[in-house]
Amino acid sequence: MKTLIKNAAILPMVGTPTADSINAEYFTGCVAWEDDRIVFVEPGQGTQAGMGAEDEFLAQNPDCKVIDGRGKLVMPGLINTHTHVAMTLMRNAMDDVPLMTWLEDNVWPFEAKLGADQIAQGARVGITEMLAGGTTTMVDMYWHEAAIGRVACEMGIRAVLCPSFVDGPRMEEFEHDLTETLAVAASKEAGGRLSVRIAPHSAYSCSAENLRRAVELAKQHGIGIHTHVSETIDEQRIIRERHGCTPTEYLCDLGLFDIPTIAAHCIHVTDRDIEILREHGVTAVHNPQSNMKLASGAAPVAKMLQRGVNVALGTDGAASNNDLDMFDEMRTASLLAKFTGSGLIDGGDSTVLPAYEVLKMATVHGARAIGMEGQLGVLAPGALADIVMLDITGPHYFPGNNLVSALVYSAKSSDVCGVWVAGTERRRRL
Ligand SMILES: [Zn+2]
Repeated sequence: MKTLIKNAAILPMVGTPTADSINAEYFTGCVAWEDDRIVFVEPGQGTQAGMGAEDEFLAQNPDCKVIDGRGKLVMPGLINTHTHVAMTLMRNAMDDVPLMTWLEDNVWPFEAKLGADQIAQGARVGITEMLAGGTTTMVDMYWHEAAIGRVACEMGIRAVLCPSFVDGPRMEEFEHDLTETLAVAASKEAGGRLSVRIAPHSAYSCSAENLRRAVELAKQHGIGIHTHVSETIDEQRIIRERHGCTPTEYLCDLGLFDIPTIAAHCIHVTDRDIEILREHGVTAVHNPQSNMKLASGAAPVAKMLQRGVNVALGTDGAASNNDLDMFDEMRTASLLAKFTGSGLIDGGDSTVLPAYEVLKMATVHGARAIGMEGQLGVLAPGALADIVMLDITGPHYFPGNNLVSALVYSAKSSDVCGVWVAGTERRRRL
């Protein structure tokens, strides 16, 4: 099956910008894919005389589906690198309370009652919301990931499923979930779109013994790790009292970072912590809306990026956000960084985290986080056809000055009018 979108604004997030382009990051042109892979991405508009690249493609592929992209922007699908998709079940139910009240009196008791069926229902809602908003890959951490994986298979989103555990009776359940999740990811229905990581919840909720077990299992299965790191000052204090070091140093000592690791939050990190993350190629995932809502703090994103850490972007769960909207998240990331100075300058700096850098966090850096650099997060020949199309004719794009700015500062996820994962168009409604 071949598809071509022509006459669209193309934002490839890769490659050398064309000389005649007004804004170097994007151009008017076409993108074509066959089955699950992009075949070409070219600037220029086709002519009746058959001079354009797409005309040539069409001449060779007369059965190709053609989409007229006038008034549209086409970009790589967004990668939500840290979420708990089933937490849509708790959306808007427990807001405006202190963090520990939120966790201990609301989230944990509610979660204790959840079975696989409810979690699958929550995932169905969350995945629909993500696809509708242009997210084509999610990195999800929860219990019953096998159930979430089955929903992901059915709905067609790409997913990194991360069965999670904390200390206690759930350890056994976790190992069962891991085995089952690996089977779902390897199934024919998954079509290669699913992979698995192990998710110890955090340094403070898992014992050293269980964290070592996670490392052992990750090595055994040849998979990565996904955990929460330095989300709060309390966490920092607890680990210092117990182990005399920071959570980052502690997890590094236990060998977690010898395995490809995704570390959510990384808010209260020291310069030494940042160096450890960089040295070990750990991805820090920034979750600005959740961090602001729970008053956890502002991660030093610009500083981490400047020091060479791969920083990706995530929404966290819908109980602390309260949506799974990556366009919203991009805007918040940039505004929060400017407002705080983002670890570089106290008192704020309007120049940090410019729009294109934030777009990279939501695409290229997300792909790097999951070991898919060059395959996802870009529009390029040979890359996977995870593609998003937005209608850019709304008043909030007027007068069309700079589409990179528009995507971060004025676009809305409801502008998304087409979503393809692995080359297949995905449903954006329940
Ligand atoms: Zn989280």
